[in-house]
Amino acid sequence: MTHAEVLKAAGLDQAQLTGGTLPIHSPIDGAEVARVSETPASDMEAIVARAQAAYLKWRALPAPRRGELVRLLGEELRAAKDELGAVVTLEAGKIISEGLGEVQEMIDICDFATGLSRQLYGVTIASERPGHRMMETWHPMGPCGVITAFNFPVAVWSWNTAIALVCGNPVIWKPSEKSALTAMTCMKILGRALDRFGDDAPEGLVQLVIGGAEQGAALVEHPGVAIVSATGSTAMGRKVGPKVAERFGRCILELGGNNAMIVAPSADLDMAVRAIVFSAVGTCGQRCTSLRRVIAHDSIRAELMDRLKKAYATLPIGDPREPGTLVGPIVDGAARDRMLAALDTARVDGGTVHGGEVVEGVAGGAYVSPAIVEMPAQTDIVRTETFAPILYVMGYEALEEAIAMQNGVPQGLSACIFTLDLREAEYYLSAAGADCGIVNVNIGPSGAEIGGAFGGEKETGGGRESGSDAWKGYMRRATNTINYSAELPLAQGVKFDI
Ligand code: NAD
Repeated sequence: MTHAEVLKAAGLDQAQLTGGTLPIHSPIDGAEVARVSETPASDMEAIVARAQAAYLKWRALPAPRRGELVRLLGEELRAAKDELGAVVTLEAGKIISEGLGEVQEMIDICDFATGLSRQLYGVTIASERPGHRMMETWHPMGPCGVITAFNFPVAVWSWNTAIALVCGNPVIWKPSEKSALTAMTCMKILGRALDRFGDDAPEGLVQLVIGGAEQGAALVEHPGVAIVSATGSTAMGRKVGPKVAERFGRCILELGGNNAMIVAPSADLDMAVRAIVFSAVGTCGQRCTSLRRVIAHDSIRAELMDRLKKAYATLPIGDPREPGTLVGPIVDGAARDRMLAALDTARVDGGTVHGGEVVEGVAGGAYVSPAIVEMPAQTDIVRTETFAPILYVMGYEALEEAIAMQNGVPQGLSACIFTLDLREAEYYLSAAGADCGIVNVNIGPSGAEIGGAFGGEKETGGGRESGSDAWKGYMRRATNTINYSAELPLAQGVKFDI
């Protein structure tokens, strides 16, 4: 299908795609596929006011009824999976299966959130006073600003929106300036769910703001936006975090990663190689959880390198719309240039680079061969997240040394070990092991399921989204004490008789 056919099938009309100031390019061939209208700064006040009005109505609706809207969204996503997946491929350059996988992740979180809408449990606490009961209740918080990155243009929105909605919060979405079209498609799909849901959904329940940092900053700074969930680079989080903290808002930060795998002497190398290749080159190395560092035991490092070089040599690179392609384009020329510059720095640091060349793909797009770089040490460039398919490989002798190297970076998103040694695996998962938010054994660092809480530590920002009890980040907790006695005893035995 041509770009125009993909956009038409997604229901985007010419009026939405033309006449604006924000050009949208496809990484596939660099073509400008649309020029969309940006949200004027002067509209932001009214947008937040609408979300606040929506909040007052939405929070009054029982949570299971709110869950029904999310269930309908899941149904509409199932029906529109192919069309939306194709727009993800067009706008983010993902191969077909990854574009569809991203939509599947949206469907999964809708299922999860629908069930969650009946499970927003608080605990009951034993009171120290006779005739008293303590408990926790969870309440909606208010509008949730969702700022998303280009590389997961739709899944991250759905993680936030499905959970925020069942928790009783309206959403204002500011997608990446590179991925406005997938956002506009999602709003159409949501619109169909809202039509079926009926009048219980207030106007302005989910709003879309188009633009870049300026529009994002307007949400970040507005005291009427109770929660800011921001996904993107650490540089962005460094600006957003303090701004939200200044006004005592709630912030959920999902920032850059620098994910590692330790390959131990006992590792099943067949499995390790498959996991490494998928994690390091999938999405052309543009996942926050992409594998960027392998720390391999010296006894198996040479063999592992041989196998990796062989596997990398067979990778089909090119048009992500072709069924056989495994590596599509990098997002744009600037990202390609940053990759090449990082490889130059690695060479200066003593690294030996395999691959990492500009290759022919579709004319106009930026295509590269994924790189493996054998490094003598973990230098500054290895400790930096370069958002590209670069895999640094280093050696180790003792597990403690490998763990120290793995943890010796500013980021803390995802990490894993390949080992068949139970002691090593358990030590790695212990407090003395990996310091990340996602820590795996015998599975790569990338491709998380929605059932777990997603996020990382240190410069990754500390936020959690998606499954487990991440919903608590979208609600406020009230501790309630109820006195059903005829006395008024004070806690800690304090006497204050009047
Ligand atoms: P980016 O930081 O350039 O942009 C992310 C979003 O932040 C965009 O919507 C952008 O417009 C907005 N933004 C930028 N400056 C802002 C500001 N001052 N105030 C408010 N909003 C602002 O990131 P990107 O290039 O789109 O995405 C790649 C990065 O995102 C990588 O570092 C990757 O690791 C990270 N990422 C993290 C996760 C995660 O869950 N941890 C997921 C996906 C991507």
